[in-house]
Amino acid sequence: MIDYVFEPGLIRSLPVANSSARFPVARVFCLGRNYHWGDSQNAPREMPAFFMKPATSVIDAVGELDFPPLTEQFCHEIELVVAIGTGGLNIDEAQALDHVWGYAAGLDLTRRDLQMAAKAVGQPWEAAKAFDGSAPISPIQPASTLGHPNQGALWLNVNGVERQRSDLESQIWSVGEIVSRLSQSIRLIPGDLIMTGTPPGVDVLQSGDVISAGIAGIGKIEVRIGDRRAA
Ligand code: MN
Repeated sequence: MIDYVFEPGLIRSLPVANSSARFPVARVFCLGRNYHWGDSQNAPREMPAFFMKPATSVIDAVGELDFPPLTEQFCHEIELVVAIGTGGLNIDEAQALDHVWGYAAGLDLTRRDLQMAAKAVGQPWEAAKAFDGSAPISPIQPASTLGHPNQGALWLNVNGVERQRSDLESQIWSVGEIVSRLSQSIRLIPGDLIMTGTPPGVDVLQSGDVISAGIAGIGKIEVRIGDRRAA
């Protein structure tokens, strides 16, 4: 028994769809642009950078989301989430999907004003991307029953008005490519999540807004944005 100086924090986890089991979260990697945003479909593919959120930012995508502090531009990004079940370094693209345990729909919530300020002066993105509750994610659908979908609509509505709509087949980098590339940089471990980028239409959220979002066949999200905390 290890003599910790205090009780270690609870392991973050997500529900597994149609099961009482939960998926324990190790780390959260996020991909930058992975859909065309008005640029040419034939433009050369530049591998976007990965950034991270802490596992503690992962929450079940249900009920009310906290409105984070320090922002006037709290933004939504609907994304396919890849859940890694088998780790590895330098994973071959042809075997990459064997390392995927399942898939979910997630929100890469962003304090856009802080991201713009960081970009302007070349500072890191943590303040913009890694805040508490910044990764609400739906229950995970096991690949053992779902397979490995490479098409299917993803969408996000706010108060019944559509803001984002695309299809997984429009992703610039496939899941296999993303897993393989990321594993060239770090050793993936079981429990790692990869948020795979969002299509155009990202915009600001206000207190009281209701988000209805999802990915066909993979997951749905229904959440409300809570009130700002008094300063
Ligand atoms: Mn994103």
